Amino acid sequence: MRTIKCYSQGFPLHTPFVIARGIRSEARVVVVEITESGLSGIGECTPYPRYGESEQTVLEQIESIIPALEQGVSREQLQTLLPAGAARNAVDSALWSLEAAKAGTSVASLLAVSLPSQLDTAQTISIDSPEQMATAATRLWEKGASLLKIKLDNYQVIERMTAIRRAVPEATLIVDANESWQPEGLEERCQRLAELNVAMLEQPLPAQQDEALALFTHPLPICADESCHTRASLHSLIGCYEMVNIKLDKTGGLTEALLLARAAREQGFTIMVGCMLCSSRAINAVLPLALSARFADLDGPTWLLKDVQPGLAFSCGRLSF
Ligand SMILES: [Mg+2]
Repeated sequence: MRTIKCYSQGFPLHTPFVIARGIRSEARVVVVEITESGLSGIGECTPYPRYGESEQTVLEQIESIIPALEQGVSREQLQTLLPAGAARNAVDSALWSLEAAKAGTSVASLLAVSLPSQLDTAQTISIDSPEQMATAATRLWEKGASLLKIKLDNYQVIERMTAIRRAVPEATLIVDANESWQPEGLEERCQRLAELNVAMLEQPLPAQQDEALALFTHPLPICADESCHTRASLHSLIGCYEMVNIKLDKTGGLTEALLLARAAREQGFTIMVGCMLCSSRAINAVLPLALSARFADLDGPTWLLKDVQPGLAFSCGRLSF
C-alpha cells in the first residue's frame, strides 16, 4: 500500500517576472509525494491559469485519484485517469521518481540517458524598457550566459531587440511573445528579427490564430508553446511552426513528453524544452528530455529567492551535475 501526500507551496521570486500576460512575484506549485515500501518519489507542477488551472483545481484533480494511487496505479494507467496538464505532471513525475528510487538510480539512467557534466540553459530577460533589458542582457552575458530568452509584448518590439542586440552582439537570442502579437505586420517583424540575428521566435500569435503563420515563408524558426500540448496538437502545427516547446506541465508529465518529442521529430519539428516558474524538483523531472533539445529553457529555479534543498547547481546560463 502506498501513502500519498499532496500539497501546495509558494516560492517568492527575487525579482518580479514580467511577460506579456502579466507580472508574477511568487511561484506557486503543487507537490505530490508517493511513498511505498519505505521509498519515496516526489513530483512538482505549476498550475497555469492560461490553461484553466488553479492551485485548487489541480489539488482536486490529484485528490480525486488518491484511492487509485494508493492501490498502486501504474504510470501507464495514470495517462487515462487524468487529462494532460499540471495535475497529471505532478503525479507522473512522482511515479518516475519512485521507480528510480526503487531501482536505486536516476530517471535519466532508467531511460539510458547519460547526463553530461553541464547543460546550457536559456536565461530569461523579462519585459522592461529597451535600456533596462539591454542592461540585463549585458549583465547576464558578462556572467557567462550565452543563450538569452527575451520576453516581449506587442510594444517596442524592434526597439527592445535592437537595444539588446547592440548590447550583446554575440549572444544567441531567442524571443517569446506569449501570444501577444497580431497577424498584421507579423511577416515584417519576423524579417526584422531575422536581420537582428534572432535564432527563434516563440508563439507570436494567440493559439487560435496559428493559420496566419502558414501564409509566409519564415525567415527564422517559429516555435509553438501555447499551441502545443501533447501529440494531439501536432497535426495542426504542420506548416505553421518549425519547432515545438515541450513542457511537462502541458504534456502531463515525462511519459507523454517523451512520446511527443519522438512524434514531433518524426514529423520534422525541432524540439525545445521549457519550464514554468518552478523549483529544481520540476527541472529534475524534465532533464532526460532536455539533453536532446535544440534549446533548453530551464531557468525557472533561478528566479526563486530560495530553491528547494538540495537544488540543482545553476550558474548563469549553465546547469552543472
Ligand atoms: Mg513560451
